[in-house]
Amino acid sequence: MGHKSQHHHPSMPPMANDALSAEQAIRQRAEEALRQQTDRALEEDESLSHEAIREALLELRVHQIELEMQNEELRRAQLELEAARARYFDIYDLAPVAYCSVSQAGLILEANLTAATLLGVARGALVKLRFSRFIRKADQDVFYLHHKQALSTGQAPGCDLRMLKFDGQPFWAHLETATAQDADGATVLRIVISDITERKRADADLRIAAVAFESQHSMMVTNAHHLILRVNRAFTEVTGYAAEEVIGKTPGMLSSGLHDAHFFRTMWKTIHSTGIWQGEIFDRRKNGEVYPTWLTISPVRDGAGTVTHYVATHFDITERKKADRKIAEMAFFDIVTGVPNRALLLDHMKQAMTVSERNRTFGALLFIDLDHFKTLNDTLGHDQGDRLLKTVAQRLVAGIREGDTVARLGGDEFVILLENLNANIDEAATQTEIVGEKVLAALARPYLLGAVDHRGTASVGATLFRGHETSIDNILKQADMAMYKAKEAGRNRLHFFDPTMQILVLRRAELEASLRGALRESQLELHYQPQFAGDGKLIGSEALLRWRHPVHGTVAPAEFIPLAEQTGLILALGDWVLENVCNQLAKWADQLPLNRLAVAVNVSARQFREAAFADKLLAILGATGANPKYLTLELTESLLVHDVDDLIEKVSRLKARGVGFALDDFGTGYSSLSYLKRLPLDQVKIDQSFVRDVLDDSNEAAIARGIVALAHSLELEVIAEGVDSEAQRDFLASAGCDAYQGYFFSQALPVDDFEAFALRA
Ligand code: C2E
Ligand code: MG
Ligand code: MG
Repeated sequence: MGHKSQHHHPSMPPMANDALSAEQAIRQRAEEALRQQTDRALEEDESLSHEAIREALLELRVHQIELEMQNEELRRAQLELEAARARYFDIYDLAPVAYCSVSQAGLILEANLTAATLLGVARGALVKLRFSRFIRKADQDVFYLHHKQALSTGQAPGCDLRMLKFDGQPFWAHLETATAQDADGATVLRIVISDITERKRADADLRIAAVAFESQHSMMVTNAHHLILRVNRAFTEVTGYAAEEVIGKTPGMLSSGLHDAHFFRTMWKTIHSTGIWQGEIFDRRKNGEVYPTWLTISPVRDGAGTVTHYVATHFDITERKKADRKIAEMAFFDIVTGVPNRALLLDHMKQAMTVSERNRTFGALLFIDLDHFKTLNDTLGHDQGDRLLKTVAQRLVAGIREGDTVARLGGDEFVILLENLNANIDEAATQTEIVGEKVLAALARPYLLGAVDHRGTASVGATLFRGHETSIDNILKQADMAMYKAKEAGRNRLHFFDPTMQILVLRRAELEASLRGALRESQLELHYQPQFAGDGKLIGSEALLRWRHPVHGTVAPAEFIPLAEQTGLILALGDWVLENVCNQLAKWADQLPLNRLAVAVNVSARQFREAAFADKLLAILGATGANPKYLTLELTESLLVHDVDDLIEKVSRLKARGVGFALDDFGTGYSSLSYLKRLPLDQVKIDQSFVRDVLDDSNEAAIARGIVALAHSLELEVIAEGVDSEAQRDFLASAGCDAYQGYFFSQALPVDDFEAFALRA
């Protein structure tokens, strides 16, 4: 039903008026006819003839019948009218749109049931309410304009606005308004209201869907016949195809050809049974490149459940795949050389042991350490060092059989794992020896590093294994031990592990385990080795760690410090030493002459590099009350290789608090002069290796003199360590040395002995 309806409800419809006047007309006509007949008879003939009366009565009767017929017709018309009215009200009231008549002043005059239901109020209560009270405040202007336009033009274009139900609940409405005249001729507005909340929501959904479609994932929509209807921008970016190039085609054009028909059959079966398929698939870009993508396909169904479209989302996983591969490689391959790393070697060893167990054949492990690699690294730089390592790896790989493994353990250490050697131990040893000699020859060939023709050698340790007779860990240790023997024996040679070495291997393993307990069980103590000025005056001491092992007796630091460094235990050990020394300093603070003596503490590179080192030391100084002026830290040259700025920062910070610094073992490592100049040290310690030989070796003597001169030019004090004879002391004095430490003066002493020594001095 349109709003332009001409019905004039509730005034009587025109049909009802017509029927009434027809009934009246017939009645009037009949009465008129009877009166005329009677009048005529009375006028024409005084005495009414029988005939005339009968005729008149007959005519009357005819008219009566006519009238009755008319009445009958009228009743039928009226019934019809009633039915029409009922139908009309039904339609009016139950129309799917809400219907209101509103006066010019804006009052609701009447409304249909739908309107009452929509606005949530009884029809009776609706009448006389202002229509605008059902319009949301924010949309009053919209309604006002709409209302005004309807009044001025008779009909306003439809408008959408938000209305409120009687209880305030908002809904979206579409209004159509036209004017009409009511029974009294007054203008009224007929407003048709449709609830469009659903449509608005669907519109919003569509807009959201449109935005989502232009997401960063590549998307494609096909119809039920798999013809591409739409693709987004990301699709174009990933595949290289513009929308025009693919619309109307099938997704088959992206196929890499790497998946067979079975793959796609399974895919479609999954889509239809579960409503979604997700998985990795290889597609081909426009430029031909095949790439992995994570694909999701889901069907879109209509209300009846029929598939109307398919939506496919592609997620290019090339980058992720690359990263995955990189991570996997990093986990198992050495980054510098590309050969397997320790993890992969261990894995191969496990397999080799299983095979060996089954076949009863021997396997062998060769442990290869480059001679003097550290020197090369320090002098030529890390880039050249890496190049050398790469070349070494290539030469090793070139020399082995397929099935054998070359691995790099780190630093300049390589391992070759030989599998499936002979079942006879002597044969197997010979086979291993041949490989070992080949390795030595290959590595001794010159290396071209940039412009430099470098010559290097290696030391190789070898050990045999069979099945699970020895643990992986021990096999590695045996080969390592044998390698050390090769080094000891003069380098550039192969040395086989022999069972007597096993004792050393075991001892090392055992030490490692018991070192952890040493701290806990107070097996560690500090000895103090006196230091003297040129005039023979005691000026301080160096604190040296001693380990009183319950079984092995005193263990020298040379044995356990490297072990502690490898295991990281050096950090706890170092803390313990610093705390111990600071406590000692605090204790000596009011005892002459001990309170005039400085204590030097060895700090391992690993310990000093710790970010919190300076804070920790300052905290210990604070807690113990030790005077930093009497504390000297001995650093080694290996610290000068990495992150010198950080080193300088730390040294400067501690120096500012009064802590002194000495460079230990000076002359054995790599010290860039420019770094030395920047480092605010107080003292260098000439390494005992020079001191030992100053008297026999003119070379060493020259070096010792040179070191003293160099240090003095940098305004550093020079102390010689390892001085064990008067002659050495005299030579060093003549070279200009400032201070001395060594067995000639005293060994390192337990604290009580040192205290007594100081009192006597
Ligand atoms: P270093 O710092 O160079 O210590 C000097 C070493 O030379 C000491 O060996 C000392 O006993 C020894 N020595 C002293 N005078 C003579 C001599 O006249 N002749 C000979 N042949 N040797 C002499 P020690 O105590 O065995 O220490 C060895 C190394 O262990 C030290 O070398 C130091 O690098 C390290 N070390 C010792 N204690 C600690 C510590 O508390 N922390 C750290 N990180 N390292 C320590
Ligand atoms: Mg030292
Ligand atoms: Mg030293």
